[in-house]
Amino acid sequence: QRIGVPRETFPGEKRVATVPDVVEKLIKLGFTVAVESGAGDAANFSDDAYRAAGAEVVAGAAQLWSTSDIVLKVRPPSEDEVGLMRGGGTLIDFIWPAQNPQLMEQLAARKATVLAIDCLPRTLSRAQKMDALTSTAGVSGYRAVIEAANAFGRYFNGQITAAGKVPPAKVFIAGAGVAGLAAIGTAANLGAIVRANDTRAEVADQVKSLGGEFVKVDYEEEGSGGGGYAKVMSEGFQAAQRQMYATQAKDADIIITTALIPGKPAPRLITAEMVQSMKPGSVIVDMAAEQGGNCELTVPGEAVVRHGVTIIGYTDLASRLAKQSSTLYATNLLRLMEELCKAKDGVAVVNMEDDAIRGLTVIKDGSVTWPAPPLKAP
Ligand code: NAD
Repeated sequence: QRIGVPRETFPGEKRVATVPDVVEKLIKLGFTVAVESGAGDAANFSDDAYRAAGAEVVAGAAQLWSTSDIVLKVRPPSEDEVGLMRGGGTLIDFIWPAQNPQLMEQLAARKATVLAIDCLPRTLSRAQKMDALTSTAGVSGYRAVIEAANAFGRYFNGQITAAGKVPPAKVFIAGAGVAGLAAIGTAANLGAIVRANDTRAEVADQVKSLGGEFVKVDYEEEGSGGGGYAKVMSEGFQAAQRQMYATQAKDADIIITTALIPGKPAPRLITAEMVQSMKPGSVIVDMAAEQGGNCELTVPGEAVVRHGVTIIGYTDLASRLAKQSSTLYATNLLRLMEELCKAKDGVAVVNMEDDAIRGLTVIKDGSVTWPAPPLKAP
């Protein structure tokens, strides 16, 4: 079968779904690989590098889509792209079916088979190597700290110099999931004093192991909502949490917020009042901007200054580190292709008896198979 990788068309998207090193490995699995000319340019992978790895470089999306049995992509396809897709073809991509019902209908009408990388059952340990949500969140958490450092007017690490003593920056991280933990590690490595909070108390040890201090909300409530994810907390908890965050906001130089609750708008954790209480020149990076924002004053996609505080609401943090995130994503997809092609004969088999593959498969030969039934208990 032929695997095709188009150039991403979403405005500003710099990532690409495969990289030259991975092309070689896909070919070893027995596939042929085609890449649209220019697909890797923004991530610093040239057409020549793909050619050297054994890919055919084709000009134009129409040719790429119509000749590919399996298309690998990053962003969900546009309506135009779905129109270019070969009838009965396979698409492996972020899809977010709950948010994109129309796209699901269009893909089903093409009699497509669609594997949504965002639907991977992440709690299966076998699936971790394919977990692109985790690799993307890790890159984004790192980049959030870099964006904060770029907007911040001082060092992160404390220094004693001939010109005087410099105190370390204080960083507060709200939400210590995958992105939050990456941000904690990065900020601690830069020498900042890092504190973090999460409603799931079980992450406290991970926070500490990365060099952060876990700050608890003074209110007893279990924060896990199942599957390792958070739930909406009670009013009482939220009030206690606001009080604690207000204290942290006054003290922090930098706040990075990452808090999300599956299927719900992002929890509002940083109020306008808290922003106002921060020191001038402080920075907030709101990684939940696309889901409604953890901070009341965030403008999604933009960096704004409010009350002397820079509030960064970029929604493309992973794309801002395009070479790294493309490489990790391409490797996640390679691991998936290995699962789909155990015979190494260049033919992908979607085995619906396999829990990981079943979870990913949101459309099979034109029939919607999402949502997958819950995983059987191990
Ligand atoms: P996420 O992006 O949905 O949420 C980010 C973090 O925000 C979570 O840690 C959540 O608890 C926290 N949060 C939500 N509401 C909050 C609030 N009001 N205040 C403070 N914090 C709040 O989550 P994620 O990073 O994708 O994953 C979270 C967890 O999922 C992981 O830590 C892990 O336990 C689990 N997970 C498991 C696997 C696996 O088993 N292979 C893989 C990935 C993730």
